[in-house]
Amino acid sequence: ASFEDAGLHPAMLENVNLCQYEFPTPIQAYIIPTLLLGFDVVACAQTGSGKTAAYLIPILSKLMGKAKKLAARRAPRGLGEPVRGEPLVLVVVPTRELAVQIFDEARRLCYRTMLRPCVAYGGAPVGIQADEIKKGCDILIATPGRLIDFMNRPTLLSMNRVKFTVIDEADELLTPDWETELHQIMMGGDSNEDADHIYMLFSATFPKEARKIAKKYLAEDHVRI
Ligand code: AMP
Repeated sequence: ASFEDAGLHPAMLENVNLCQYEFPTPIQAYIIPTLLLGFDVVACAQTGSGKTAAYLIPILSKLMGKAKKLAARRAPRGLGEPVRGEPLVLVVVPTRELAVQIFDEARRLCYRTMLRPCVAYGGAPVGIQADEIKKGCDILIATPGRLIDFMNRPTLLSMNRVKFTVIDEADELLTPDWETELHQIMMGGDSNEDADHIYMLFSATFPKEARKIAKKYLAEDHVRI
């Protein structure tokens, strides 16, 4: 398997090269084609396996074809009112460290495209994170508490356009403690009834309880890796 044969957008292929990823890792070799075909995915994956790029590469590659259109929805720099963020991709993770790590990888994979990743996590002031989102937010990487906070501010963030939802280290979030929040996150916005909404769950472990909760959200023909 090679990245060249995967049918990726040329801009993505360039950025994969800039990252100096020569060959797909095993999990990438499975997940990239599966996500390009549009299946929901549940994957058992350890940190270090290349799991972040495994979902970012195909999702961002799909968006690169419409990056210009997405950017046109934003107010030109320095002109007009800042707009609210309307991400198409939502990545939810349990910790700030993981959020920042994924954000860095997303930035590298979005290099020289019009796609804008943003990050939101708790324990830090809201101001800078919110300002960045208002400059345009195609991909939002967030911890659940800060995400819910931002979702409840309709002038800052709308979930109505989310088409890809990734829950990384999913065992942390697929628990009864988070059930209400998880439901709000998985459903997206009020008018998000997109049947094509793609869900991806990544975790080193899937305890029975987590699998039960996951089933509620995944398409019946989801792929297990
Ligand atoms: P992750 O499992 O997502 O935490 O990734 C672990 C590390 O592997 C990160 O530093 C990535 O930048 C790197 N990485 C991801 N994919 C590849 C690849 N195909 N070749 C080499 N390194 C990679």
